[in-house]
Amino acid sequence: MRKVEADDPELDTEHRTVLGVDFGVNNIAVTSTGTFWSADEFNHWRREYEKRRGSLQQRGTRAAHEAIEGVGRKEYGRFEIYLHGVANELIEEAVEYGCSHIVFEDLTYIRENIPQATWQHVWAFRRLYEYVEYKAAEHGVEAVQVPPNHTSQRCSTCGCTHEDNREGEHFECLKCGYQNHADYNAAKNIGFRYLRRRQNAADGGAPVDVRLNRGTLNVSGEYVPPAITNGVRKA
Ligand SMILES: [Zn+2]
Repeated sequence: MRKVEADDPELDTEHRTVLGVDFGVNNIAVTSTGTFWSADEFNHWRREYEKRRGSLQQRGTRAAHEAIEGVGRKEYGRFEIYLHGVANELIEEAVEYGCSHIVFEDLTYIRENIPQATWQHVWAFRRLYEYVEYKAAEHGVEAVQVPPNHTSQRCSTCGCTHEDNREGEHFECLKCGYQNHADYNAAKNIGFRYLRRRQNAADGGAPVDVRLNRGTLNVSGEYVPPAITNGVRKA
């Protein structure tokens, strides 16, 4: 598991574009490009398997115990297929938008950062990161983690950070009035956090942008619209 460090010897001077990703319990992943991966199916099956486990546990027999292990294997099998699919699509998104890095929040304190997350969610976030990290390398894309402090409370437009900016899935900035889905706002901030860390790196850091659905966000928080070549938008 690789984390971004200020004294990273691998830093180069190449210009980079990054894809920010936010993890959550309702949407397993949301990117700074505005793509959402719903967790509805995951949550449905998570509850189903919990129910099956619960009724088997009440029996308490040896056969029931073995059946519980079988339920666990089925659950992991199903979720692994699902997470592989999400990982592949996240990498496609990064490749399509020309991103060199996929930026996630640091998973060390994910339980504290997402209090609603069950152990299955925490397991899924870690697994998803591992799959992306492993598969992204084949495409020359790197998965990194940044500290998630306040990424859900910070306005991705003006930088104002306040706990009242966010209410559930709705983000509305108290200062500038920017409104959007809270997970999408957080995904942009996660990408932005990587930019800031790069800027503060010992070598001054190479220029980095966060890839949005249209255009990019640079390290000063300025929005750069998509380039127009021959009248065709290259977003
Ligand atoms: Zn704002």
